[in-house]
Amino acid sequence: MDQKTREDLLKLFQGKLNEAMTFYLETCTRCGVCIEACHVYASMGQVRYIAAYRQEIVRRIYKKYFKARGKVWPSVGESKELNEMALEELYEAAYSCTGCRRCMVYCPFGIDTQMIMSIAKLLLVGAHSEPEILTLLADTSIEKGKSLDIFKENFLTGIKKLEKDVVKKWKMEAGETAIPMDVQGADLLFVALAGAHSIIPTAAIFNAAGENWTLSFFEAVNFGAFVGDPARTQLILDRIVNEAKRLKVKEVCICECGTAFRVMKQLAGKQPFKVSSVTEVHARYIKEGRIQLDRSLLNGVVTYHDPCQIARNGDVIDAPRYILKHLTNDFRDMSPDPTYNWCCGGGGGLVALGEETLDFRMKSSKVKADQIKRTEATTVVTACENCHTQLCNLNDHYQMGVDVKFLSSMVADALVQN
Ligand code: SF4
Ligand code: SF4
Repeated sequence: MDQKTREDLLKLFQGKLNEAMTFYLETCTRCGVCIEACHVYASMGQVRYIAAYRQEIVRRIYKKYFKARGKVWPSVGESKELNEMALEELYEAAYSCTGCRRCMVYCPFGIDTQMIMSIAKLLLVGAHSEPEILTLLADTSIEKGKSLDIFKENFLTGIKKLEKDVVKKWKMEAGETAIPMDVQGADLLFVALAGAHSIIPTAAIFNAAGENWTLSFFEAVNFGAFVGDPARTQLILDRIVNEAKRLKVKEVCICECGTAFRVMKQLAGKQPFKVSSVTEVHARYIKEGRIQLDRSLLNGVVTYHDPCQIARNGDVIDAPRYILKHLTNDFRDMSPDPTYNWCCGGGGGLVALGEETLDFRMKSSKVKADQIKRTEATTVVTACENCHTQLCNLNDHYQMGVDVKFLSSMVADALVQN
């Protein structure tokens, strides 16, 4: 690695050194409490997958370049040179961590491995050593934000074709629009994923609840966050924030995508609208009597997988359980409870990397498969696209014999027509 590249990367590193990050980098006592907390270590038993070990790679670079002792006396300061080999170690650490923050709730100091890994990911982006596909997908989203007029017409045509499937789930009066778009002054902007499965069920539920809503032109997923690029993350986020402001909505409702929800909730800053997950909105409709659900459709034990970015990191824990109690008499929570729930193993961009990560995702998530099996559930419900894909893969790999379902689609299928 040449000197100029190293200096550029260290500038990126320095930009991440706020008060919280400095605390995380300087505080680990190597107490070992986090050893068993990571699903990757718990499933695979390899030291490199211990949370504190991942952190240590970043921490040693920090010691070498940002601490006096590491600069002057590297061997005593346990410092590490930032070079090509270090980048390989950073890649291994960052792209085997799903950012689930389970280790953080165990650590007595609350050290956030996901935040420390954000340095690793940023250095990889700076060195052009990140998974290229994630950057390409992030750039495609950003381009779409810049040239809405070019794709608007095709998008509207595609959405029109979905309307008949929405009406099949909830009948509309003549003249009503099943999927409203670009509605100035709507109360709620729904931000879905690209794909009919993310739009149709929730559109039917909004219509059943009599919501004054409109569908966003932009997809919720934020590939900038997966690849750990703050500039791209913000640009992708801004498209939705600007659309919400243009339409003057009161609420932005994020579909079943954990990262999209966390990014919008935690990074959008103070805005004239509130941010909700679609699960919170559906629970609210039930509480307010705006929708009724048929509880007789499901047979067998039902359990719920809390997406880490929505539950542990987004604090949406009661809403899905409230909904599920209106869908089944046989709900059984997993153990340990939602705060300590095992990650499914698909986050942090791993599912987005597809087949390339499949073998690792299966091996690293054995504890999740075991946790589900212990419930004896025949249906596993979740509220995140990544988790759903990963749970389907786990179901096949570990022959769990369960149905994996999206919560929103179960609500839509159970709507009681008046
Ligand atoms: S954030 Fe999750 S995946 Fe990453 S080290 Fe901690 S427990 Fe493991
Ligand atoms: S629990 Fe916290 S302080 Fe202890 S080793 Fe892990 S990261 Fe370090």
